Amino acid sequence: MFSIHDEPSIIGLLEANGHKKFRYAQVENAIYKNLISDFDKIETLPKDIRTLLTENCFYNSLSLHSEKTGEDGQTTKFLFKTHDDKMIEAVIMRHLSGRNTLCVSCQAGCPMGCTFCATGKLGLIRNLEFHEIIDQIMYAVNHLAREGKTLRNVVYMGMGEPLLNYENVKRSIQIACGQKKLDLSNRRITVSTCGIAPGILRMAEDFPQVSLAISLHAPTDEARKKIMPVENTYPLTVLMEAIDAYVAKTNKRIFYEYIMIAGVTDRLEYIGELAKLLEGRLAHVNFIPYNPGEGFMGTWYQPTSKIMIKKFQEGLEKVGIPSTIRHTMGDDIDAACGQLALKEEGVSLATETGKSLGKPTVSL
Ligand code: SF4
Repeated sequence: MFSIHDEPSIIGLLEANGHKKFRYAQVENAIYKNLISDFDKIETLPKDIRTLLTENCFYNSLSLHSEKTGEDGQTTKFLFKTHDDKMIEAVIMRHLSGRNTLCVSCQAGCPMGCTFCATGKLGLIRNLEFHEIIDQIMYAVNHLAREGKTLRNVVYMGMGEPLLNYENVKRSIQIACGQKKLDLSNRRITVSTCGIAPGILRMAEDFPQVSLAISLHAPTDEARKKIMPVENTYPLTVLMEAIDAYVAKTNKRIFYEYIMIAGVTDRLEYIGELAKLLEGRLAHVNFIPYNPGEGFMGTWYQPTSKIMIKKFQEGLEKVGIPSTIRHTMGDDIDAACGQLALKEEGVSLATETGKSLGKPTVSL
């Protein structure tokens, strides 16, 4: 059995059974344009092809474990179970401007071990297959369609480090943006990395239109090392070299994510350090007020005061770097950044037997 999103396998199956090439175009149209999720309902296909597909393909590899919508109705979190009982999460964010964004997971757990992140506490459980990423997107597309809405943006900011699961992420972006497939704009896809330098260089080659977000979170090697083990493998100088090469190739502004944790990432001297690091670079900084999570290491972390965040913004303004304070969506349903793996209806994801690698191992 293989996924309906596995184009080469479907084409091979059709050909092996003597069917003409145009039949795949009909399958593609039914799935991605007409959002038909039952092979038997693809009326453009003869019965024997529908049976062939039913016997050999699956439409969705994820089963919905739970769904929660925040009080403001803007955020919906889906907890999915994979075929081998791993839990992964995706979050729809309905912005007041009318655009709808989906945050997807690319790994079950994450090997990167950032100290402020609940997902990092799990360690890596396994990489997701490309179709498991697309299944999250298809689920959201269908969910929003039932509300009369469309999906506009996809951010790879859920569980996992996208650039450590590069081939599957790449294939999922190709399906999400393929004209004959979901046809999302490349520009409305954002891949967020904690700083996997070789992956950034590959992104510049493969997806120069896709947006890149860097989880920076601290402006010096020393400060970063305390909260992000990736710094041991790709120190800031290596990371910034990769980013500069990316910008030289794409001419795209980089989004830097900076989590504001009182006494940890918001020290006064970091204002100048951050300004110095980004001065002259094509950058936009998103300040993320820390969301205290419940019951995992780092509970002593506290969010920074709004006054302090403003001071950081002023420091950046002086060197001409724009910034915004990220509005926290979904913290009442544990859907905000860093809370994605917290307890859900009695299911503790932290009981999964993930293995934290501490230092990332990269195979790109
Ligand atoms: S912040 Fe991102 S890279 Fe770091 S542990 Fe969490 S999911 Fe992994």
